[in-house]
Amino acid sequence: MGLRVYNTLSRQKEEFVPLRGKRVHMFVCGLTPQDHAHVGHAKTYVAFDVVAKYLRQKGYRVFYLQNVTDVEDRIIEKMAATGKAWQDIVQPFFREYEDAMAALNVTAVDVYAWATDYMHEIVEQIRGLIDRGFAYVAEDGSVYYDTTKYKGWGQLSGQKVEKNLPGARVAVEERKRNPADFALWKAQKPGEPSWDSPWGKGRPGWHIEDTAITIRHFGPQYDIHGGATELMFPHHEAEIAQAEAFTGVKPFVKYWMHGGMLMVRGEEMHKSLGNYWALKDALAQFDGEVLRFFLVNAHYRSPIDFTLEGLEEAKSAYARLADTIANLEAELRSAPEPGIEDPSLRAAAKRARETFETAMDDDFNTREALAGLFDLANAVNRSSGKVGREALADAWATFDASGAVLGLWRRPKDSGKGLAGDLIDALVELREDARKRKDFATSDRIRDVLAARGVVLEDTKSGVRWKAR
Ligand SMILES: [Zn+2]
Repeated sequence: MGLRVYNTLSRQKEEFVPLRGKRVHMFVCGLTPQDHAHVGHAKTYVAFDVVAKYLRQKGYRVFYLQNVTDVEDRIIEKMAATGKAWQDIVQPFFREYEDAMAALNVTAVDVYAWATDYMHEIVEQIRGLIDRGFAYVAEDGSVYYDTTKYKGWGQLSGQKVEKNLPGARVAVEERKRNPADFALWKAQKPGEPSWDSPWGKGRPGWHIEDTAITIRHFGPQYDIHGGATELMFPHHEAEIAQAEAFTGVKPFVKYWMHGGMLMVRGEEMHKSLGNYWALKDALAQFDGEVLRFFLVNAHYRSPIDFTLEGLEEAKSAYARLADTIANLEAELRSAPEPGIEDPSLRAAAKRARETFETAMDDDFNTREALAGLFDLANAVNRSSGKVGREALADAWATFDASGAVLGLWRRPKDSGKGLAGDLIDALVELREDARKRKDFATSDRIRDVLAARGVVLEDTKSGVRWKAR
């Protein structure tokens, strides 16, 4: 059985069949860089990084697009509070986000699309929605989407359209006809950044940027839309309403994927609750690989409870696994060419590969996939010291291929056959020569030089071997 993906739209797992053969168009709601990125962002972006990497490993050609919301209410609030230009708020926070993503090995995004670079597409889309009767211009020059005109409202989230009951009060400044209506274009208020439009100066609402960006790059339909569960309503509902009304093509997105929430000690994370974790603070305490391991050791649709205890546990579990792989690499370098064949290690590696594929094909179940790799690590530890090169290489290749998808144990990405491995071998030999002639100053120096770069030397019965960590 092939890949199955849980689709929020149908509320079930479906066979994954892209719209255009092996091509996959994938979009994930991106950052609004108005504050430090937080650990919830890490959960979302690590999850979809794994999705893209797994699809690529399966032979799909993925175009992974993510937006950057560089004009939005909260940015404008910061402008008022700090007196800064919006660019000077957005740019540093986005750079910080990029650094954090690099530390987390989030590398699969092809294009970061900045909302303000798509003003032409945004205005054209709003104009089209007005022409087709799905949007109306308010007296101040703002434009609203009329949710009562669109038949499919609520299909993703199950939310119903509220009709504007007689006597119900709608905020005066928001000249809306119905409570669920939302702004496509917001007329400029004093001091706000603005762009020209047929309805006067203003700026786009939040929902319209995503459909302007994706229709520009993907056309009226695409394969995967991802994001955190909190964005399902109204944001994703609004995207469907905009796109399907504008293009007339259904469905706008074939598979809607939503990641579970990140909680802190069982509560939602909020600055007001004092439990807010900026990503940079988490990365100051824990290595990016450990944080990534902590996140992928749960299924992406499950909520995760972010606790220091949980992270400490992840840290030691990850260290054990990484140490086994480093031992395996050291073993592989010194193993005899034909050596002893080890059927149980071979079988364990095969089982781990099968478990990995079965688990990942089942809606990207990284937790199960990792469980299979822990079993393989146990088999490697049991077989230590007796096995020939081929069986060890087989186990190593299993960790290497799964690590490429999960984005883990990148250091060292080298079974010892590259130039770096050759140079370390040469240094280890020089140190042995120095020791034989009792030049301990030199042999210690070489050992220290290697240790400073994370290469540790171990004495074994068959001689000295090295481990990189
Ligand atoms: Zn979005």
